[in-house]
Amino acid sequence: MKGSLELLKRFSEKVEEIIYAGKILHEKGWVPATSGNISAKVDEKFIAITSSGKHKGELKPEDILLIDYEGNPINGGKPSAETLLHTTIYKLFPEIGAVVHTHSSNATVISLLLKDKVELEDYELLKAFPDIHTHETNITIPVFPNDQNIPRLAKKVEEYFKNTKQAYGFLIQGHGLYTWGKTMKESLIHTEALEFLFECEIKLLNLKGKI
Ligand SMILES: [Zn+2]
Repeated sequence: MKGSLELLKRFSEKVEEIIYAGKILHEKGWVPATSGNISAKVDEKFIAITSSGKHKGELKPEDILLIDYEGNPINGGKPSAETLLHTTIYKLFPEIGAVVHTHSSNATVISLLLKDKVELEDYELLKAFPDIHTHETNITIPVFPNDQNIPRLAKKVEEYFKNTKQAYGFLIQGHGLYTWGKTMKESLIHTEALEFLFECEIKLLNLKGKI
C-alpha cells in the first residue's frame, strides 16, 4: 500500500513536468498539430508518457499514461505510437530521466538535407550538454530513415547507440528530433540547444551556397 502511494506521488510529479514541457514546446512551435511526445521516468519499473494524438499545449493530467518498460499501459489508454522509441532510450541509458520528441521545422528540414548525420562543431552552445566544456569539439547527431514500423526503427536506434559514446539525440528523416537528459529541465535545454544549432547549420549551408 505504501509502495503504491509512493508510485502515485511520483507519477503525479511527472505528470506535472510533462504538462509543463508540453506548454513550452508548443509555445516554441516545435510540436505542431498534436505531433511529438514527451516522457519521464517514474521509477525503475514505470514511465509516464503522453497519450496518442493529444495537443501538447493543452495536455491534461488524464492525457499522461503510466506504462511499463515494454510500453504496456498500466491503467488503460493508448500510448503514443512511438512509445517503443522512448522505452528503448530508457533501457539504453539508465541514468536519464526524461525524453523529448519534437517535430520542428528545423529538425525536419536538416534531416532531409543531411540524410545520414548532422555534425556540429565549434559552437559555444555545444556546452549546453553536461559533458562538453569547450567549443573546440564536435558531436554527431545521427539521422535514421523514417519508418512507420517502430520496432524496426527502435532496433536501429538501439544498434547505433550501443556502439557509440556520443548520445545527445537523433533525428528521423523528414520527421523530427529525439533528445533526452537526466531531468525534464535538462531534456528541454538539450532540445533548445539542438534546435538553435540546427537553425545555424541550415543558415550556414544556405550562405555557403550548399542548398
Ligand atoms: Zn514523431
